[in-house]
Amino acid sequence: MTRKEHGICKLCLKESKLCYSHILSEFLYKEMYEDQRFALKQSGHKQKKQQKGIREYLLCGECEKKLSKYESHASRILKNKCDWPSPEHSGYFTLKAFNYQFLKGFFLSILWRSSVSKNQLFDQVNLGGNEEDIRLRLLGEDFGGPRNYPVCMFTLEDNPLSFYDEKYTLGNFHFIQPPVRKRVEKNWAYIYVYMGFKVLQFSSFRVSLSEKFDNIYLQPDCWRIGLLTKENNPQTYIDFAENVKRIFS
Ligand SMILES: [Zn+2]
Repeated sequence: MTRKEHGICKLCLKESKLCYSHILSEFLYKEMYEDQRFALKQSGHKQKKQQKGIREYLLCGECEKKLSKYESHASRILKNKCDWPSPEHSGYFTLKAFNYQFLKGFFLSILWRSSVSKNQLFDQVNLGGNEEDIRLRLLGEDFGGPRNYPVCMFTLEDNPLSFYDEKYTLGNFHFIQPPVRKRVEKNWAYIYVYMGFKVLQFSSFRVSLSEKFDNIYLQPDCWRIGLLTKENNPQTYIDFAENVKRIFS
């Protein structure tokens, strides 16, 4: 039986029976459950192995359904990396077959849920007035253009643990790192890591970014996803590998 509790839905603000909703989508945990070897890294230095995704009573049934269509779409794209076109020499996967509105809705819904969550894993997320703006956008299904709340994504060439030691033979570095706040140029952004992706989500409607970002944030007809390799981005790669190693050691 689905767990429900009576309260105010955080999205539509109506009183209703609330679903026990995930903060990060269920599919992001699924492979970790199946693998039986997973970790969820807490911000700071404490590590914690987590058996269940983090949930809270957040949304009414209708709002849960509204956001779930974004999740289904994102799940199809992220889980099928093997079907993506081969990376270009420039070090990018170029995706063209996706629904911009649905993907943007997915990433913004994760950011918004992280902000309204009371769980300490999401303590770093503080959107200020943008939390209300994103709530209204999720409700009205209007996410603005690609330069509004831009989102960039990177993926690693292979399992960073193999970089250190062959005994770490995880199929696909199954771990989640809760969002970490970071200054990128003059903007605030949050870095999420899940399913082997590193997601850079900006948290303002209007951002001030240099032109190089035009190539990599999610656009309506094209999304270049950066491929991090030991060769093209050694420092980021090593940082990432160190991070993964700390979690599993
Ligand atoms: Zn609702």
